[in-house]
Amino acid sequence: MKVVVIIPAAGLGTRMAAAPSARAAKPAPSKQFTDLAGTPILIHTLRRFASHPRVTELVVALRENEIGPFRERVEKTAGDILRKRLELVVGGEHRQQSVAHAIAAVKAANDDLVLVHDAVRPFVTLEIIDEVIHAAEKYGAAIAGFPAVDTVKQVERTAEGALITATIPRERVVMAQTPQGFRFDVLKKAFDEATADGFMGTDEASLVERSGHDVAVVMGSPSNIKITTPADLELAEFYLRK
Ligand code: C5P
Repeated sequence: MKVVVIIPAAGLGTRMAAAPSARAAKPAPSKQFTDLAGTPILIHTLRRFASHPRVTELVVALRENEIGPFRERVEKTAGDILRKRLELVVGGEHRQQSVAHAIAAVKAANDDLVLVHDAVRPFVTLEIIDEVIHAAEKYGAAIAGFPAVDTVKQVERTAEGALITATIPRERVVMAQTPQGFRFDVLKKAFDEATADGFMGTDEASLVERSGHDVAVVMGSPSNIKITTPADLELAEFYLRK
């Protein structure tokens, strides 16, 4: 059984960039290309999946102008990733479209597995990848998640700020992480339905949930962070030094 990994990496990462300066020589790189110990975050992430024995191929969605330079960089400095088949596709305007373009490039049987993982979560472990693969094989759909530690409030946004409308019992809340793994037919059906209905979700599981398929949750990790802001980058450097 094939295990294909899709990495959406076509975001602009505007939350990471410093305030634009008219005198800046060139724009800051998108967050997935930001260096972590001298290596782009995306390459750290790809290495984790390339070293997993069950992963057969990697499909990365990038912005069009980044495809050529990225392939060159991998060939020159990260040849270890090429032990798996690496396909680079053009991403879309939103994450969901980037993933849809990658799915369109996947040739797989219905019961092959597709894992989707954020380019900017480089601390995913082989154990988490394993657990998601096993649960996706068993249930058809599974994600890594981590129990909420903070009390979760539902709010209504007003012009003056936010007002609490409800407190959601913490024991019923899980923070969704990636990888999110699915049988190919389950993921494809969910994406086809979302496209037909014009539905946009912030993760793949939300599309699969609305298509009526149960999604299992396995234990993620507090260090499986999504590097989004400069503060996350500092934390990432700390994790790497450990
Ligand atoms: O911006 P966001 O936090 O949703 O990004 C999550 C992941 O989705 C990142 O790896 C980012 O590069 C990717 N993305 C993408 N195409 C977009 C927007 C985001 O592949 N148009």
